[in-house]
Parts: sequence; C-alpha cells; structure tokens
Amino acid sequence: MTDPTNTDATPQAAKFIAIDGPAGSGKSSVSKAAARALGYGYLDTGAAYRALAWHVLDRGADTEDVDAVLGAASDFDVRLGLDPDDRTIVIGDVDITDAIREPRVSDAVSGVARVPAVREQVNIFFRSLVAAAPYTAVIVEGRDITTVVAPDAPVRILLTAAPEVRAARRAGELASENAAVVAEALHKRDASDSAVVDFLNAAEGVEVVDSTDLDFSQTIDAVLAVIERKQGAEHGR
Ligand code: C5P
Repeated sequence: MTDPTNTDATPQAAKFIAIDGPAGSGKSSVSKAAARALGYGYLDTGAAYRALAWHVLDRGADTEDVDAVLGAASDFDVRLGLDPDDRTIVIGDVDITDAIREPRVSDAVSGVARVPAVREQVNIFFRSLVAAAPYTAVIVEGRDITTVVAPDAPVRILLTAAPEVRAARRAGELASENAAVVAEALHKRDASDSAVVDFLNAAEGVEVVDSTDLDFSQTIDAVLAVIERKQGAEHGR
C-alpha cells in the first residue's frame, strides 16, 4: 500500500492492459486508438515477432530452420517504443517499420513464433519495456498476453471477429493484394499460430469483445467500456 506521507515513493510500475486476438480482428488499430484516448502507452508484440522474422530473412536464412531462428534471436538488437503515435521499429541501425508488414514477413513469422526459447526471450523483453514505461498503463496487444505474458493484468480482453470479416478487413488494408490470396494467407497463419497459443477462445476471466458487427469506432468504445469497468471494479468503484 502507498504511504501518502512518503514523498520518496518510487513511482508505480505501469499496469498491463492485455488485449489478444487473431489477425484482422482490429486489435492493433483499436488498441492504438484506445491508448491515445486514455493517454496510455501501446505495445505491439506482433511487431517484435515480425522484426525477428525479418532479421532471420535478412541473414539469408529460413524461419523454418530452428537453429537459424535461435542464432538470429541471440543477436537481436531491436528497438521499439510505446508511443501509440510513433510505431518506428529499428534493428541495429536499420528502420524496418514498413518492411515488417510485407507479405514475405507475414508468411515467415509463425516460424519464429513457434520456438519456445524465442517466446521466453521476447516475453522478458515485453515485461521489461512495460516495467520501465513512462505511462500509468500500457495497452499490450498480441496472442498470449492475457494468458502467458500478463495473466494477472487488471484488464484482459480477447478481441474477435468472424473469419470472413477479418479476411476482408486485412485485404482492405493491403490494397495491392488479391482478396482471396490474403484470406488464404491469413487463415494459414491463424492455423499455425493457434497451434502454439490459443487466441481464439477466451481464458477464464478474459472479456470477449466480438467486433464482427461493429465498426471501428464502436469497437473502440466497446474496448474502452471494458477497460473502464474493469479498472473501476479494481478500485472498488
Ligand atoms: O499481430 P501480428 O499479426 O502482427 O503478429 C504477427 C505474428 O507474431 C503472429 O502471426 C504470431 O505468429 C506472432 N505473435 C505471437 N504472439 C504474440 C504476438 C504475435 O506469436 N503475442
């Protein structure tokens, strides 16, 4: 408990607001918008997995090769911030902010995500980023945040949407891509990812927000409502 008379008190570590969901559920854009609305930090954990996949490919290796993935992970100098308005991600001195969104990286990323030692390493990195964050709370989004990275987070949300709605949204984001190709790649990635962590079903105590029939601003409102309710309950309001 905080002693109000103790002026030397260390500032409290930022709280985790954990949001999981599959690709195309809207979790990145919704989490970012919610972080902006609340003045919180925002951590895109998928960007770190994508950065590692980019790094493996940059070394001329294949993400199906576990030894190559472990080698790249042992030399992974990645920097990403928590400002929802600055999504810059850098490896060494190379800005890879746009490169990690390329389909070749999306297709390769499940290979790095299924290596347990990689997951342990990035989870330590995520927790340390949040612990040092200059925010009261950080919205952390990914696949296993509600279950593995921060199972004790005061707010845990699973953002879902019907598979066909997710594929259509993702195809809309990648204007140059053929919708059927995008849908197939997304379902393939979901299938390999869900063999590693279950992000299609909510764990106990996790609130589900289904965005299938919601537009963008309605989804943000639904997520903000859960955050407010959970934080209110935590503070006995
Ligand atoms: O969220 P995004 O689609 O950018 O994530 C890219 C990939 O990173 C996912 O397909 C998954 O393989 C991996 N990932 C993960 N655990 C997380 C976040 C992302 O395995 N917490």
